[in-house]
Amino acid sequence: MMRTFERNIRKVEPYVPGEQPQNKVIKLNTNENPYPPCPGVTKALEELDTDRLRLYPDPTCAPLVNALADFYHVNPEQVFVGVGSDDVLSMCFLTFFNSQKPVLFPDITYSFYKVWAELYRIPYECQKLDEDFRIVKEDYYRENGGVIFPNPNAPTAIYEELDVVEEIVRKNQDVIVIVDEAYIDFAGRSALELIDRYDNLVVVQTFSKARSMAGMRIGYAIGSPLLIKYLNDAKYSFNSYTMNQAALVCGVESVRDREYFEEGIRKIIETREWAKGRFAELGFQCLDSSANFIFAAHPAYDAKELFEALKENGIYVRYWGSERIEQYLRITIGTREEMEVLFRFLENYMGRNRS
Ligand SMILES: *Cc1c(COP(=O)(O)O)cnc(C)c1O
Repeated sequence: MMRTFERNIRKVEPYVPGEQPQNKVIKLNTNENPYPPCPGVTKALEELDTDRLRLYPDPTCAPLVNALADFYHVNPEQVFVGVGSDDVLSMCFLTFFNSQKPVLFPDITYSFYKVWAELYRIPYECQKLDEDFRIVKEDYYRENGGVIFPNPNAPTAIYEELDVVEEIVRKNQDVIVIVDEAYIDFAGRSALELIDRYDNLVVVQTFSKARSMAGMRIGYAIGSPLLIKYLNDAKYSFNSYTMNQAALVCGVESVRDREYFEEGIRKIIETREWAKGRFAELGFQCLDSSANFIFAAHPAYDAKELFEALKENGIYVRYWGSERIEQYLRITIGTREEMEVLFRFLENYMGRNRS
């Protein structure tokens, strides 16, 4: 029986994150970076002045905001930082999506969007990706209360060229368009190029993927000073001190080491391109990945069975089993060595379960 008080409790079906097993496995299930953060981060943590932990951190996050502004050649007033891009995106939903009209996002995309929309009671409508799992830009030209999509999209890993992104932003100048660029560093041109031309655009990025710092929880949004001010107003009405002291200093160190950042991306892209070839040799059909993961299906092997067999053997990948993608696995690009273990397992599995 439902207690009377339950009627007035804000209920939501939560986002289900990928598993974080505590034993040692080959972890290709949550798109983390297989390489450590840059040496400056390690040094900053070793030298962290713990006496300062008595004090609240800088609520404006100025050193990190300034470092990001320098790196991306924007004004500090155009940068908002938060506790991972999940925090930043959640603040964006709360701040920018406040219309009676539906917010639009793809049917196959980051499943957190639907959760935030439901949590904040924002109407939304999913737009179907086409048969090749691509965004149909015309679907976003109808009346709406805002638009959000990742580029590259997740879990498809497909990147849309900047002119497609620009068209969607240009046709929606009466609402806010958020481009979630969690994987942009592995892909192509960023929508940051458009930031000074469209004051309705917000670009969100993260330290969790290309910067190897998922555990530190740092994300950021870049947009016009006006939109960033509204985001900060919402943040200060929620929790003034979202970013802890350690995250602020480590974030700055990471942004300073451009060479390490670029080299890490290069290694992952190299492994990804090699892995595409190996998957194809084994008969997998992969969507063309521009991210640090591959979305793959095999015509002869059931995805769920394969997912479970991999897991039993200590190789974790992601499987949803939801509509249209029930035969797909999402596999993060690990180190070359980790991927070799994966492919050895797949060869054996296919040998044993000949179709
Ligand atoms: C990983 C991811 C994020 C969020 O990552 P954080 O760790 O919260 O920064 C946001 N959007 C997409 C599409 C992602 O894949």
